[in-house]
Amino acid sequence: MDIVAVSNSNVLDYLNDPSPRTLGRSALEWLDQLQKPTIIRVAGRDRSRTRAMATLLHGNEPSGLFALHRWLLEQHTPDVNMLFLLGGVYPAKIPPMLSLRQLSEGRDLNRCFKEPFEGEEGAIAKAMLAELHKVKPECLLDVHNTSGTGPSFAVTITNDAAHQALTSLFTDRLIMTDLRLGALMEYSEQEVPTVTIECGGSQDDQAHQLAYEGLVRYASRPDVLSLEKAEWDVEVLRNPIRVELVPEATIEYLPEPSGRADLTLPPDIEHRNFGIVSPNEPLGWIGKKGLSVLNAIGHNRTENMGQVFQVREGQIFPAQAIKAFMITTNPVIAKSDCLFYAVKATGEPIF
Ligand SMILES: [Zn+2]
Repeated sequence: MDIVAVSNSNVLDYLNDPSPRTLGRSALEWLDQLQKPTIIRVAGRDRSRTRAMATLLHGNEPSGLFALHRWLLEQHTPDVNMLFLLGGVYPAKIPPMLSLRQLSEGRDLNRCFKEPFEGEEGAIAKAMLAELHKVKPECLLDVHNTSGTGPSFAVTITNDAAHQALTSLFTDRLIMTDLRLGALMEYSEQEVPTVTIECGGSQDDQAHQLAYEGLVRYASRPDVLSLEKAEWDVEVLRNPIRVELVPEATIEYLPEPSGRADLTLPPDIEHRNFGIVSPNEPLGWIGKKGLSVLNAIGHNRTENMGQVFQVREGQIFPAQAIKAFMITTNPVIAKSDCLFYAVKATGEPIF
């Protein structure tokens, strides 16, 4: 027995080829039974290789859990061994289940996959990485949901055929980013091709279905790392900027500005996700403070807003044709996280 396995046994639980009667009647019943972040191993036809999938790193993003539960109940025999890592079991179990991204006193687990691995989340991240290091999977997926609704996409720090092939199992959009946040995909990428899958909204049946169908393809195909000609083309969006509100700015989502907010966006702006917005299409209305209420964050620094937006008669227009995505209509997320991400209409970076 090696030291890694001993120390991991305190942090993680293990299930091997779980039988349907141990899985509860529903994913929620199963989650109720889980006591710790859990590793699930399922033996494949080819036992010399393993594919890995992490999910539930955020406790309120259930598509991957639902997909895994359904897939396990159906007792598929995967083409190769499968290793599943359920990360955020603790926040996910707090009632009402699947409503908390992280423990209120804890850290975001998907920011903890880097030294020094402090605190409970750091220990979980470290144990998950040790598990991956031991098993040496041929690839790794990390399955999430977006906040709000909106279409699916994948995120990676590397763009090559293997990453596009993994993406195409689930979706046809791949965002490549140089930003480093301590996410699982950044750390594991040193050893194995890794793609984050954002299935769409956590309340969307479509997102749960996409996670399930993607998992079936991921587990059943003999080769998931080569792009076949018949595969859909994957659209690659490179190094998006984050468009944020400055801390003191106010925002409203209304069909017409009330005059009380620094920025007014239409309530249906989510429909613009991944569509092209041309320089003569208004995105919303800006108050007297103008563009000073917005920040565009590129490579961890603030960029020149004039290259992103222009204001004409109180309306805000893109300075050049852009593609925006992860657009939120939740004012809390708009204030605490960001309004949306954007690249040029061609998918190239704006800066
Ligand atoms: Zn997430």
